[in-house]
Amino acid sequence: MQYHLLTLGCAKNVADSDGIGAILDQVGITPVDKAGDAEILIVNTCGFLQASRQESLDALRNLGDKKRPDQLLIAVGCLISRYGAGVQREVPAVDAVIDAGRWLALPRLIHYLKSRDETGPRDWLTEAYQDLPLEQLSARSIVEQLPRAARGPSAYLKIADGCDRLCTFCIIPAIKGSHHSKPADAIIDEARQLVSQDVKEIVLVAQDTTAYGWDLQKQHDALAPLIERLCTEVDGLRWVRLMYAYPGHVTPRLIETMAHFPQVVHYIDVPLQHAHPETLMRMKRPNVDITRKMLDSLRAAMPDIAIRTTFIVGFPGETNEEFQALLDFLDEQQFDRVGIFEFSQEEGTPAATLPDQVAAKTKKYRRDQAMAHQQKISLAKNKSWVGKELDVLVEGVGDGVSIARSYRDAPEVDGIILVNKELPIGEFARVKITSASEYDLMGK
Ligand code: SF4
Repeated sequence: MQYHLLTLGCAKNVADSDGIGAILDQVGITPVDKAGDAEILIVNTCGFLQASRQESLDALRNLGDKKRPDQLLIAVGCLISRYGAGVQREVPAVDAVIDAGRWLALPRLIHYLKSRDETGPRDWLTEAYQDLPLEQLSARSIVEQLPRAARGPSAYLKIADGCDRLCTFCIIPAIKGSHHSKPADAIIDEARQLVSQDVKEIVLVAQDTTAYGWDLQKQHDALAPLIERLCTEVDGLRWVRLMYAYPGHVTPRLIETMAHFPQVVHYIDVPLQHAHPETLMRMKRPNVDITRKMLDSLRAAMPDIAIRTTFIVGFPGETNEEFQALLDFLDEQQFDRVGIFEFSQEEGTPAATLPDQVAAKTKKYRRDQAMAHQQKISLAKNKSWVGKELDVLVEGVGDGVSIARSYRDAPEVDGIILVNKELPIGEFARVKITSASEYDLMGK
């Protein structure tokens, strides 16, 4: 049997899709690139924001429209955690749904669907799984035993899932549940498996990577020793990259560890969401003074560090003055990479019912303004690299050029470096930067 898997949403979903691939591989179900060649069509959905939900439903409809009678369409992931069988009602071509924490049950679900009586009920949860205890279906206990298959020189490694924070705009804790960490030994094993398949870069992901280990013997500051173990126990690992840090959780020990081990790239992704104290208070996020201290400490320890962050504009009650504080903060901090999102009024979150919701056109205007503001900063920063050299990891090649990334670029979300020569994929090269745009660099 063959499956075609479409992954939507964030890097955490990409990591889950790697796990889905691993578990299907174990039962002899293999991947194919073209949907038409597969018997099983799977969409790993995103349910985070209205726009991402729409994208997931559109993808399901699109595959559903073309689905042959011998094909099965299965929806997995966050959209299902949020809306369950409602997704099947929305897209009737979907044969079954399975939520974000239960995809380990996919082989059993496929077996059930293949052998079911066509006239029988389609609700897998009540029909096929009602007798199974939740833990048996849960990814938590078994996921660490799955072999990992690498898909290129860079791989996401999910070290935890869920979140215990109370950010008022965010539905993630309701979808993913409380924070739960993968045991360190399992992470080291997974990293070794990946490196043995020529993976050069491991990108650590979780909803909050800096909360790693809090649930394991209530161990605070456990991310630093985990990174230390990755750097000392995984031979051949060249780059470790840290995504999704939480501003209040970046400890001095973590910064020291990042600065100490040459494998840890001088890069951090730390979503800040806003910069005005009042907005942050309504968001239930750490104060900007804590953030400033953290950014100062990171830069003091690693002067060349590239900092990526994201902000939300148009949060309920955001005044012109509050928005201006965000623009001023962009000027002050000169971030390397910034994502700007319009506030999305998500049902079930405290922020959805806050007074003074901001009009859609104001949100859009502020996003455009903040993006244009940051683009100038980003261009100036990129131009400062012209004439200098960077080590890059080659990820693609063709037509006489190579596509590569430096320590400043996380996969998928950041820029690329276009090199004027075909280089071996998966190898490092030293590149001299010859020109720059807002997002990307060119080099030789
Ligand atoms: S820390 Fe991130 S995932 Fe957790 S509630 Fe806040 S925004 Fe959501």
